[in-house]
Amino acid sequence: MSKRIAILGSTGSIGTQALDIISKSTDFDVVALSAHSNMVLLERQIQNFKPEQVTITDESSYHDFLDNNKYQIKINLGIDGLKEMISEIDVDIILIAIVGIAALEVTYYAVSKGIDIALANKESIVTGGELITSVAAKTGASILPVDSEHSAIFQCIQGCNNKEEIKNIYLTASGGPFKDYSLIELEEVTVTQALRHPNWDMGEKVTIDSATLMNKGLEVIEAKWLFNIDTDKIKVVVHPQSIIHSMVEFIDGSIISHMAMPDMRIPILYALSYPQRTQTNISLNPYHMEPLTFEHPDFRRFPCLQLAYEAINIGGTMPTALNAANEVAVQNFLMGRVSFTDIPKIIEKAMNLHLNDIIYNPSLQDILHVDRILKEMLI
Ligand code: MN
Repeated sequence: MSKRIAILGSTGSIGTQALDIISKSTDFDVVALSAHSNMVLLERQIQNFKPEQVTITDESSYHDFLDNNKYQIKINLGIDGLKEMISEIDVDIILIAIVGIAALEVTYYAVSKGIDIALANKESIVTGGELITSVAAKTGASILPVDSEHSAIFQCIQGCNNKEEIKNIYLTASGGPFKDYSLIELEEVTVTQALRHPNWDMGEKVTIDSATLMNKGLEVIEAKWLFNIDTDKIKVVVHPQSIIHSMVEFIDGSIISHMAMPDMRIPILYALSYPQRTQTNISLNPYHMEPLTFEHPDFRRFPCLQLAYEAINIGGTMPTALNAANEVAVQNFLMGRVSFTDIPKIIEKAMNLHLNDIIYNPSLQDILHVDRILKEMLI
């Protein structure tokens, strides 16, 4: 029996890689897709995978698509359309690969319905981790991490039934393209340089986040919620080769790590196949491996990492403020309006402003409200 899968964000980096592995396997059946505005690619995906429904989240793309629609399938519009699609289709698992906080409402909706999700979207757990994990505990929905680090941790703790046995989690970070840059050199970094990631092929936003180490900061916050672990037990270790994708240290002195080629198709496939494994032809050859090295991250040159720890330790809606400010700052950097080193400064300022307005145990509306207010203020 093949697994019935919906892929939200099917034209993005994770979505296309997911469809690539799915097309090589008979284990999966794609029943629904969603895309924002890449209609050319969506059309090709509809022809190849024959979903029962699709949702288009960008309004003008939706209208253009409807005008030329040659397919006998239901086409939904926007976030409400995504929710409607989820309520109507029969799926085993939904891959949520939508970029940005737009995914939060959909993630919350799917988990509320008790549907298992393979979660690639960072923002929904960073901002709504407390809310989503508590709802999932009630409905029994599984949240399977797709991000390589969280997939690694998830694989390392298989068989561990007592959380107290976990001493530390080591999230590995490549260090990004500017690992060894001085503070002065960082100030001069250009957009083109920042978009060139040494190991991973990803979307623009996450590539910049990798260069500032905010990506790792967001992953620290996610790890806290996904694995219910105190942040003082979550460490970041710079490992430039990106072969070990994270490690878990147990109280008996054992460390279990996960190694694989830096290829997102592996963690995507693990999340979709779990608890089984599906064959790929991606292979890491230990005889041809370069030496693996590990070092401390530099919080002084990469203040975004420190800000993320501060945001999660303050709690409530502070991670939402951090995330919103980061989205705006990265956007401004990509448009050439601010420098690379302005990114953490913008975020810190926004966090200080939010300090008096924090909402603890936020609802979905509270999170969306804080996100909107912060972005309006910064843009
Ligand atoms: Mn990652």
